[in-house]
Amino acid sequence: MSDHYVKVKVQFEQMKSFGEDAEQEGVDAEVQGTDSVSPVTSSITTLGTDSPKTPISCKQRSKSRSKPSKEEKNKHISDLSLFGSVAASHVGKNLNRLHHERMLHVKGTGRILQGRSESNGNFMLNNPPKHMQETRRGDGAKLAKKKRPVTVDTSKAKTSLEALKISIKQLKWKEFPLGRRAACDIYWHGVSFHDNENINSGQVNKFPGMIEMLRKINLSRAVRTTQELFPEEYDFYPRSWILPEEYQLFSTQMRMVKENDSTVNPTFIVKPDGGSQGDGIYLIRDPSDLKLMAGSQARQAVVQEYIQRPLLIDKLKFDIRLYVLIKSLEPLEIYIAKEGLTRFCTEPYQEPCQKNLSHVFMHLTNYSLNVHSGKFVHSDSQSTGSKRTLSSVLYRLAAKGVDIKKVWSDIISLVIKTVIAVVPELKVYYQADIPPGKPGPTCFQILGFDILLMKNLKPVLLEVNSNPSMRIEHEQEVTPGVFEFVPSPVDEEVKVAVIRDTLRLMDPGHKKFSFSQPKAAFEQGAEIPIEAESQERSPDEGGALPSLCLKQVYPKYTKQFNHLRLVERIATLFIRFLGVKGNMRLGPTAFRTFIRTCKLSNSNFTMASVDIVYIDITRRWSGSTPESREAGMGLHAFVEAFFSLAARRFKSLVLKEQIVSLLDLCEAQLDSPIGEDRRSLSCSRAMPRASKTQAHPQLSSPAPARRAASQDQRLNQRLRSITLRSSVEN
Ligand code: ADP
Repeated sequence: MSDHYVKVKVQFEQMKSFGEDAEQEGVDAEVQGTDSVSPVTSSITTLGTDSPKTPISCKQRSKSRSKPSKEEKNKHISDLSLFGSVAASHVGKNLNRLHHERMLHVKGTGRILQGRSESNGNFMLNNPPKHMQETRRGDGAKLAKKKRPVTVDTSKAKTSLEALKISIKQLKWKEFPLGRRAACDIYWHGVSFHDNENINSGQVNKFPGMIEMLRKINLSRAVRTTQELFPEEYDFYPRSWILPEEYQLFSTQMRMVKENDSTVNPTFIVKPDGGSQGDGIYLIRDPSDLKLMAGSQARQAVVQEYIQRPLLIDKLKFDIRLYVLIKSLEPLEIYIAKEGLTRFCTEPYQEPCQKNLSHVFMHLTNYSLNVHSGKFVHSDSQSTGSKRTLSSVLYRLAAKGVDIKKVWSDIISLVIKTVIAVVPELKVYYQADIPPGKPGPTCFQILGFDILLMKNLKPVLLEVNSNPSMRIEHEQEVTPGVFEFVPSPVDEEVKVAVIRDTLRLMDPGHKKFSFSQPKAAFEQGAEIPIEAESQERSPDEGGALPSLCLKQVYPKYTKQFNHLRLVERIATLFIRFLGVKGNMRLGPTAFRTFIRTCKLSNSNFTMASVDIVYIDITRRWSGSTPESREAGMGLHAFVEAFFSLAARRFKSLVLKEQIVSLLDLCEAQLDSPIGEDRRSLSCSRAMPRASKTQAHPQLSSPAPARRAASQDQRLNQRLRSITLRSSVEN
């Protein structure tokens, strides 16, 4: 008891400084994830025994190279048009290139945008697209339209430049390779949202926070949190542990598995947190083989169940690179490219054993590794070689009798569910970088999903790349040891189409799709208008370009997936109470305000208990990652607090129902004019009432923010004098 007292006192001191620093000035901190391990028994589990010793590390490589019914939920997304298009893309494989030099005659949409609020993909934008000027007759009919080409700043495009240039040329748009003094319509960044800091309008092809969000640890946390709520729906992600914090848990669980059944023989893959292209990855069969330290520092990594039985083609392991466009976060719009790439290993696959654990070319499908194997096959054909189109692989499977419609349907589900898992934190990053009301660009982003097919054809998520390579050349060994970049027809075929069609969808003159989404479409289980096939080809394009290679999957399939967006509703509450612009963490006053506004305290759960919940949870989270040492409560800590509040309030329900009930309760309080505690406004950014999955916080004025900060100071002073009589009641 006295120990606890001392600890809490220390925490009060920390809160004091947080109150002064964070709430007053805004903490520009990173958010961490939950540390709870999903108790999910993954359907992918292949645990076993054996404890070999030599984990292998692959070569370090330079990065410079650069509520629905059960039936509905279980229904396959049988999207014949998507499947059909894959077929077309394979049969007419050079279709896109045939169109390269054909003219796009942009006639305009005929849509009157002026004076209308336009969903820009993220938050509402009131300005009509600048590049379209309309004059109208007195009777309202359009007299004439003048259009100038869409302008694209390509000065920061880096390795995607080649493919981008071809795309812009095909669209007859205007490229600004050195940037432009006046604003451009679209800014294409090679790495991150922050590649160019001085953008106040237009659209940028990166979201703030996406890189951080998709690092291996953060992605694992996000998927695991959702997995906790929906274990059956999120069984596509291999069981994972976060190092170093879950080392003990990992070791204990492995020991128990082996004790229970000595015939099981598990293999694990260890991936450094910030790694890419296979850097630093190694396989192990025993926790003692983990490389826990890098110098004096603990290595941040994810250790993951290794999928021992992947689907093989020509005896080789391969994975799928699928391109996914997040066209908009609010409302959520997801597109999937009908064509993708498959990357093949260069050494015939054998199930892992102690002897072959170090065979990188057998176990890792990374192009950047296999290209150096000596057995890498460069091919101009899309259906042979070490890099092939996805459609060619699917057709090969179809020829063997595989139900590729089902495989596609499962892949689409995996993509939508993964995006749903990362969106909550992404929204926190977004509002911190582009607070509502601040002039700023809107964002979209192409992501690279790496997916493995298991022998039983079940797709497994390996990782999501925030910055997938858009290079259309590949490295080739021209003479022994000398590598050069040479054009790669397969890369060009796939990547130019993805970039060009992303641009077509982001054309500021064609925002029609966002207009048509009624709010109700984002309510759980609500009907949404499925976009007509005309969406596939802009009417302006008059058939000059091939139909879009990007297919909308969300909100198209809202009905099947909207019930999964629970953590996003928790994030919406979190954002509402954040207060200061740019902040990503809740201070103790804001947390109290949340409790009070949502009427969650009572005689059994006093405000003193609330403070203790805050302290306990933030303290637990404060050491999980170096970034999380910032004061305050990040989103994942808030989610944990929310789970614990829900469990305490709705004891008799199962976890998911507890969360839904508490969310409904909180949202009802926030929607109710009576429940709208005036004090809450001092910490909140108002949120539209009807929206449960949308966070449209409006601008908070500096005065309420200052009030919240001074409240925090007062609270901190009071907290210091609280005795621990109340201890933790939760
Ligand atoms: P990187 O970002 O370094 O490429 P990945 O997570 O994509 O890291 O892993 C690299 C490669 O390792 C993948 O392309 C795949 O071939 C293999 N791999 C990764 N995770 C697993 C897994 N859980 N089971 C089997 N193979 C895996």
